[in-house]
Amino acid sequence: MFEVAVEQGFASAHALRNYKGRCENVHGHNWKVRVVIEGRQLEMAAIIDRIDHQFLNEIPPFDVTNPSAENIAEYFYQRMNEGLTATPVPVRIREVKIWETDIQSATYRP
Ligand SMILES: [Zn+2]
Repeated sequence: MFEVAVEQGFASAHALRNYKGRCENVHGHNWKVRVVIEGRQLEMAAIIDRIDHQFLNEIPPFDVTNPSAENIAEYFYQRMNEGLTATPVPVRIREVKIWETDIQSATYRP
């Protein structure tokens, strides 16, 4: 079994709701996402296309859910997992890691 990691970047703005600090204001990040899977390589361009150069707070589910790195990591997991149900070869997503900055990241593991 192979373990494959796919990394891609996107630039999006967000504003954290009910956050007592500067991150409550609209600001941007050059995000990086890494998805680790067991099996063959995955395509995540469609997910990136939807949020790249966007204000995340205006895109469902982040118009309701806080667009934190944790929730964005889970979002990537859910979207990619939906795509996997159609693949004939079993592929399992082990984790999704989102970098908000070079030194701050959040990891979602199912
Ligand atoms: Zn931020």
